[in-house]
Amino acid sequence: MSCDFMALATPGVQGLHPYEAGKPVEELERELGISNIIKLASNENPLGPSAMAMAAVESALSESTRYPDSNGFGLKRALRQYYGLAADQLTLGNGSNDVLELITRAFLNPDDEVVFSEYAFAVYPILTQACSAKAVITPARDYGHNLQAMAEAISDKTRLLFIANPNNPTGTALMREELVAFLDSVPQTVIVVLDEAYTEYVESADFPDGLELLPQYPNLIVTRTFSKAWGLAGLRVGFAAANPEITDLLNRVRQPFNVSHLALAAAEAVLSDHDYLKRSVDLNRDGMQQLEEGLKLQGLGFIPSYGNFVTVDVARPAQPVFEALLHEGVIVRPLAPYRMPQHLRISIGLPEENDRFLRALRQVLAC
Ligand SMILES: *Cc1c(COP(=O)(O)O)cnc(C)c1O
Repeated sequence: MSCDFMALATPGVQGLHPYEAGKPVEELERELGISNIIKLASNENPLGPSAMAMAAVESALSESTRYPDSNGFGLKRALRQYYGLAADQLTLGNGSNDVLELITRAFLNPDDEVVFSEYAFAVYPILTQACSAKAVITPARDYGHNLQAMAEAISDKTRLLFIANPNNPTGTALMREELVAFLDSVPQTVIVVLDEAYTEYVESADFPDGLELLPQYPNLIVTRTFSKAWGLAGLRVGFAAANPEITDLLNRVRQPFNVSHLALAAAEAVLSDHDYLKRSVDLNRDGMQQLEEGLKLQGLGFIPSYGNFVTVDVARPAQPVFEALLHEGVIVRPLAPYRMPQHLRISIGLPEENDRFLRALRQVLAC
């Protein structure tokens, strides 16, 4: 008889449901035996990688026998120059997911409370549960963060609070004034994590830059990623910026070589490729307009989005629509895991991909 390994796991892990990622193109190819598939499911950059980043990866490849620089000196220097941050404010991660996990490992005890919103990024409940901490989920307002509800949810047991701005999967955003008023109301003993994975796409003048808020709020951690507008999702690199004391704590739980030398080289190079970011943002703006117009023509509602994706209300159970789209070779993201069973999230693609999605959707919904 084998041992009951479930009983050996921590209580948090026993209750854990793994993250459901966007379906890879190769998986759908294997399952349906079709080709010419497009994936608009993981908010990846449709532009393809920066040529400067790829050149840096190629020249770094021959260093593959060596461990990466554990301190990421070159990338931190580039981040210092680009964002005006100090090295002792920076924690590098294997994607920003990694730094989000470092934050929970550094700060959460079992039974501590973690506040986040309904419809917030699915990684927050997973990390909370993995630490056997308690998720306190506040109701959304217009699919976005209700900061008043979040402030009211803070108790003596609250240790962490997550805000994604813009939020994934809804694309909603908080503007500077309301965010600052909220941060003023949060006790300093509550660590506020401001997840800015999509910040580069936002063009509104009232949108806050979390990095600029760091000097006023010592309990603030801002996370950024190279996976979205910077186009390096496959290489896995992101960072946290926070005050030096918090940064020191995060680096205590960081694996020594958590970011590969290829990822370090690519991220450092792409920061000096200013044209790349501009092209990403331009492509996204045009693609968003294309999708919004196409959805309106089909009479479908959607949540106005500040990110590189749009969340559509298909006004019927979305899972069968998702599956029918798969048969058309179009991968999008069903949002039932977010308790949004009638919504699909579509990442902005190239113009021809957006067009193909819109045509496939029209056809599927007509059936
Ligand atoms: C995509 C995303 C991230 C970034 O994940 P990486 O690990 O950096 O690839 C972080 N937060 C949110 C809300 C996201 O949507």
